[in-house]
Amino acid sequence: MSDYRALFRCIAGCGETYPLDEVVYECKKCGNLLEVHHDLAPLKKLSAKKWRELFDGRTGTTEWPYGSGIWSKKEWVVPEIDSKHIVSMSEGNTNLFWAKRFGSMFGMNDLWIKMCGNTHTGSFKDLGMTVLVSVVNDMIQRGKNIKAVACASTGDTSAALAAYAACAGIPSIVFLPANKISTAQLVQPMANNAIVLSLDTDFDGCMRVVREITKDNTIYLANSMNSLRIEGQKTISIEMVQQFDWDVPDVVIIPGGNLGNVSALGNGFKMMLDLGLIKKRPRIVLAQAQKANPLYLSYLNGFHEFKPVTPQKTLASAIQIGDPVSVQKAIRTLKEFDGIVEQASEDELANAAALADRTGTYSCPHTGVALAVLMKLIDRQVLSKKDRTIVISTAHGLKFSEFKVGYHEGTLKEVDCKYANRPIAMAPDVDKIREALEREFAARKG
Ligand SMILES: *Cc1c(COP(=O)(O)O)cnc(C)c1O
Ligand SMILES: [Zn+2]
Repeated sequence: MSDYRALFRCIAGCGETYPLDEVVYECKKCGNLLEVHHDLAPLKKLSAKKWRELFDGRTGTTEWPYGSGIWSKKEWVVPEIDSKHIVSMSEGNTNLFWAKRFGSMFGMNDLWIKMCGNTHTGSFKDLGMTVLVSVVNDMIQRGKNIKAVACASTGDTSAALAAYAACAGIPSIVFLPANKISTAQLVQPMANNAIVLSLDTDFDGCMRVVREITKDNTIYLANSMNSLRIEGQKTISIEMVQQFDWDVPDVVIIPGGNLGNVSALGNGFKMMLDLGLIKKRPRIVLAQAQKANPLYLSYLNGFHEFKPVTPQKTLASAIQIGDPVSVQKAIRTLKEFDGIVEQASEDELANAAALADRTGTYSCPHTGVALAVLMKLIDRQVLSKKDRTIVISTAHGLKFSEFKVGYHEGTLKEVDCKYANRPIAMAPDVDKIREALEREFAARKG
């Protein structure tokens, strides 16, 4: 399998390329972002049928490292890495939740939620981080001088980086905007012994700091402008198609902030198209919080121009980003996949999450943004109820207890908590409790 090859290539097409084990994040000639480019010729030597069989055969295996949803596709991700140096915690292979009851509330019968938060640190960020930390570990094992890995984060990237780095024994540094992430997200990197810097700025400010700090090449940058992360995340598309027996969904809806994940989604579909595993493209919908909506504003003018915004405080804190690093990649992806960008207000995202929770989910606010966008686009008949639609759930709701508690206590700003459900405090008096239960049964019927 050694003739598979991948390298960094400039996205602007200026021709620059670098090996994947070089410490480089941007094109040295023109300053644009890089992407991982796979040499398709050797990959094409295996038929589509053989690739499907290979991937299907590895699902659930204990044979290192193929039990991971990412490394089961190793040849398409980082083909040349020594498997001994891979840092994996069996990420990926997350379930597709058939949202039957939720979908039926607005006439859909083929609605699915890809539960990317059901993974090691509780968000899809694990998918990219296993790849990045594995490549760094491989470099260190082969003698390169790397002291630490560092990232700026809205909470989930830092949790994933800290966990994977700790697993490999590599020091990590995380820059977080003070008071803008959940308690769980702050505690995760602390527990994993990362150097945690809480900065009096927002995410975009943390991003500027980490880009300065990582000009020292012995501190490796782990943000998604580093396209190794995108390679891991692109397996979301492959996995979803595989879960439908290699059938392509009609629509995929994904919440976006820094906009790396939406490009990853597109890359996964493109690679399957290039290698003949699928024949059609889904439509991709990018969902933004109204309080941090620079791509939505750009979409309204046909992507003719893009202007960063100053993001406002939003419950969807992981996508509270006004100057997304991967915006050009995202626009390219949306143009190729008949893309739509839609936004959701605080009220819409919180109520959509709560409504879905009434049908069994425990949705994080970002998933709430995607669910609200789905409901709006169905309501406006932009999307069809009949289409097989997948909503990407990006994190586990358990990471966002403040959001859940605030909703059910009715204390969230700008949110009319229509589905709040409060505990009933009462004495342990059985007769009174029977009466209370009757009232509750009646209320739930009505
Ligand atoms: C990072 C993150 C996103 C946004 O992904 P981008 O690649 O930055 O667009 C969405 N939801 C959650 C929970 C996240 O952690
Ligand atoms: Zn270039």
